[in-house]
Amino acid sequence: MAGKSQVRQHRKKWIDISISLKSGMVHWPGDPAIRIKRVLNMDKGDDCNVSVLSIGSHTGTHMDAPLHFLRKGKGLDQMPIDAMIGPARVIEIKDKESIKAEELKTYKIHKGERILFKTSNSRYWESNAFRKDFVYIAQDGARYLAEKQVCAVGIDYLSVGGFYKDSKETHQALLKAGIWVIEGLNLFKVKAGRYDLVCLPVKIFNSDGAPARAVLYS
Ligand SMILES: [Zn+2]
Repeated sequence: MAGKSQVRQHRKKWIDISISLKSGMVHWPGDPAIRIKRVLNMDKGDDCNVSVLSIGSHTGTHMDAPLHFLRKGKGLDQMPIDAMIGPARVIEIKDKESIKAEELKTYKIHKGERILFKTSNSRYWESNAFRKDFVYIAQDGARYLAEKQVCAVGIDYLSVGGFYKDSKETHQALLKAGIWVIEGLNLFKVKAGRYDLVCLPVKIFNSDGAPARAVLYS
């Protein structure tokens, strides 16, 4: 019996690292507010429930296409499916300001890796107020990741770049290098380590970004 419970303890499980979309939720300043409204409602006598969604393409857990910061970049509908399905590593960042090359060098990052950064940001999701002081990828960190030729990078707030600085520089360095970017992850309950990742953005023609469902398997 001891053997059986041991098997149970090691049983693999799926972890949802996505944010639920809902009206009034936090969004990037200047991006459209999120409104999700039931327009057919069974409680009001309609035959079924149907909602209308009004959201920006960079709402909640989402991916950035190269087209987001590169005029002739690819739309997210052209992303190869296998780019976002496969092994991934969650790295817990110590720096409370930004993710810098200096810290990244200590993690032995390899070509083709999918790296998700868990920072102190994940606790901000409890609030609907936008936090300007979130931890972002500094431009030297972004250039380091580009040099390493990682496959994908994820972060646990609404942008890989900073609010006050390194927004354009960081996005361009990653997207120009062909790195797929996930933003708006919730890694609060996730420990640093190795997982399998599945993250698929909604397929919108020639989109600069799209909401995504991201899950880890451990
Ligand atoms: Zn972005």
